[in-house]
Amino acid sequence: MDRRSFLKTSAFGGTAAAATTLAAPAYAQGKRTLTMVQSWPRGFAVLDDAASYMEKMVADMSDGTLTIDKKAPGELVGALEVFDAVSSGQADMYHSADYYFIGQHPAYAYFTAVPFGGTAQELTNWYYHGGGEQLHDELGQIFNLKGLLAGNSGSQSGGWFRKEINSADDFNGLKFRMPGLGGKVLGKLGASVQNIPGGELYQALSSGALDGLEWVGPMADERAGFQEVAKIYYAAGFHEPGSGLASSVNLDVWNDLSGQHQAILRNASMATTHIQLSETLSNNGAALARLQAQGVKVLQFSDDVWDAFGAASAEVMDENMGDSLFADVRASFEASMAASSSWINKSDGYYVSQRNRVLGG
Ligand code: CA
Repeated sequence: MDRRSFLKTSAFGGTAAAATTLAAPAYAQGKRTLTMVQSWPRGFAVLDDAASYMEKMVADMSDGTLTIDKKAPGELVGALEVFDAVSSGQADMYHSADYYFIGQHPAYAYFTAVPFGGTAQELTNWYYHGGGEQLHDELGQIFNLKGLLAGNSGSQSGGWFRKEINSADDFNGLKFRMPGLGGKVLGKLGASVQNIPGGELYQALSSGALDGLEWVGPMADERAGFQEVAKIYYAAGFHEPGSGLASSVNLDVWNDLSGQHQAILRNASMATTHIQLSETLSNNGAALARLQAQGVKVLQFSDDVWDAFGAASAEVMDENMGDSLFADVRASFEASMAASSSWINKSDGYYVSQRNRVLGG
């Protein structure tokens, strides 16, 4: 399916229908409030942290002339309904992870994370300096959205299990939660993959509806309490090496904002990524140590399992290449990765391996 046929067949009825259902903007005494529906419950570490930084920075930077009214799942729409709500104008903006919306368009995977994709820094390099932001907007045109990245999880963990994964065959029949293209990769290995919103995961793992799950990383996972119901934790994962969070805005709402308010939203989104990512990375190590103190066994997947992830990932990526916009986004992302990573591998990557060798680590 190319992007034109996608426009015609989109369940959203295109931008004209969206514009007619747009709610009246909330103006009061020259101030503007944007309703932001988010995919995370209040208090969820990393994710709600990012949404809350965005909320605070926009209010501070605009001296209160632009504010965000956060709505947690269930307050206006469900966790995974935020995209459609903003596309249609039911809400003004969302805070979520765009890979939840690969059903709307597979290229949305790239604005969160793809298997064997970029780290947080590599995603940011592409987004702001390699054409990513422009492609986010091109994709957003289909759905009446202005794309903004606001937050990053850093490198995500391999996930929570009740049994060790000693070969790729151990995924066969496993009821596992993993969204995005990573979930499709585990499907190739025989797993029964579901995407369940974060706020429902603890219950699903406790009840046995899931055999295992991936959520984010030590800081977020500890807060969610998964250590109470599973004791095996794989540290590194192939599926989300640096997941961007998105805070995209209904395009009609965006176009109606002043240039100053648009600049505040864009700059607040960039600052949100920086402050929330650094907060997360500065806390993950201590959180992992606390998980281990509670009896969690921390492991890494073997090279054989990583090789199976790699082969299945290549298949999944290639299966989406019939969509011209997916192909454009993939080519742009991979060109940026090749350009920036050639130096990163020789500098940061090599330096860290040498530091660990010399000092131990
Ligand atoms: Ca995740």
